[in-house]
Amino acid sequence: MAAYDADVGVVGVGTVGAMTCWQLARRGASVVGFEQFAPGHDRAGAGGESRLFRTAYLEGAQYVPLLLAAQRLWRELEAETGHDLLTLNGGLMIGAPDGELLTSVRASIHEHDLPHRELDHDEASATYPQHRLRPGEAMILDEQAGFLRPELAVTVAGWRAETLGARIVRHQPVLALEPDTDGVTVVTADRTWRVRELVLAAGAWSRRLLPHVVPPLAVQRLVMTWFPARDPAEFAVDRFPIFIRHSDGFDISGWPTLDATSVKVAVNYGYDQVPDPDLLDRTVDDRLLGVIRAAVAEQLPGLFPEPVRVGAYMDGYTSDHHAVVGPAPAVPHTFLACGFSGHGFKMSPAVGAAVADQVLEGGTTLPVAHLTPGRPLDDHGLGDLRTVMADLATPVGS
Ligand SMILES: Cc1cc2nc3c(=O)[nH]c(=O)nc-3n(C[C@H](O)[C@H](O)[C@H](O)COP(=O)(O)OP(=O)(O)OC[C@H]3O[C@@H](n4cnc5c(N)ncnc54)[C@H](O)[C@@H]3O)c2cc1C
Repeated sequence: MAAYDADVGVVGVGTVGAMTCWQLARRGASVVGFEQFAPGHDRAGAGGESRLFRTAYLEGAQYVPLLLAAQRLWRELEAETGHDLLTLNGGLMIGAPDGELLTSVRASIHEHDLPHRELDHDEASATYPQHRLRPGEAMILDEQAGFLRPELAVTVAGWRAETLGARIVRHQPVLALEPDTDGVTVVTADRTWRVRELVLAAGAWSRRLLPHVVPPLAVQRLVMTWFPARDPAEFAVDRFPIFIRHSDGFDISGWPTLDATSVKVAVNYGYDQVPDPDLLDRTVDDRLLGVIRAAVAEQLPGLFPEPVRVGAYMDGYTSDHHAVVGPAPAVPHTFLACGFSGHGFKMSPAVGAAVADQVLEGGTTLPVAHLTPGRPLDDHGLGDLRTVMADLATPVGS
């Protein structure tokens, strides 16, 4: 009989890999996780201090039950580790009352009867004067929204998994994966490992290890910026909910101040392809900063419009912007959990639980059917992505 190093190997102990290790170890499985850096690092999907948590989900009402399950699991991870990871201070969705953003959020609210408040222009301006609204703009307050602490969450999920018996191999990139009918061989620089089942949760790198199995992923760079507040008390957790605002064709999102000095703002300016995730460019060009500065100066007058900190991170995007979670089609003993397309952090403990169910029980009652790897996914549109800098460099009028 073949000797196995573990029941389950998890490749990538980042956001989803750490949660999967925790969930597998919690169920008593023997687990080995492989991480090229160390859980909690900030070089890929989980860096940058905070992540939005929302339940009135603009990406689709079908996510709401998964997000409510995630909310319960975040609280369980907090209870098991003694760390504050999720703060629910509300979330403002800002835009035209009948625009795409507020309409999508309303659909989730109505389908799942979520706690919320609609604020018209005048009430919104009076209640949240930190936002300078344009005529006609309104807000919806998602009362079950807030923010997560990503580096800490991944660190403590990995640590909790180890406390429950998992082994995490740090600073060891997996070089190759060889699935066969009895299990999967995992190759690292020092040795080979044998596991009965394998979960591939390698984020932006996922396609590199199984290029014919993982659907096409575009690796996109996302930039975050921190702007000092003129009066930090105005942007404190209890006065300034997280927000997403849609105007001029792009989304801007923000968080309350976590250091009593600066407010983090992220502008989703479209596309910014990373040709090689090993070579993520972490510098932020002044022309791109100009776009972000202008948005902050207009929309958030209580911030000095000059960032004191910038950061660049990345995530893998599928062509339909929904993740890939489940057994790899036609490949034995292999499960995929990747392609979280810029919105996977909040749901990660529930995804980890779903994957643990699938690996150990052969299926899950958690609502992840819409994320099945078997759905049609192609590279339609992904090949056309350019870097945002190329776009900014294009002369106006050309
Ligand atoms: C700037 C930014 C802001 C975001 N904002 C939000 C938000 O507000 N709310 C939200 O819900 N989501 C948000 N997201 C999305 C969310 O953070 C990601 O979807 C999620 O972190 C992806 O998790 P992952 O496990 O797939 O990838 P990662 O967390 O990147 O983990 C993958 C891991 O695999 C490891 N790895 C890769 N290859 C190998 C190998 N060969 N051997 C060993 N290890 C390997 C990597 O080192 C990494 O640790 C944001 C993403 C970014 C980048």
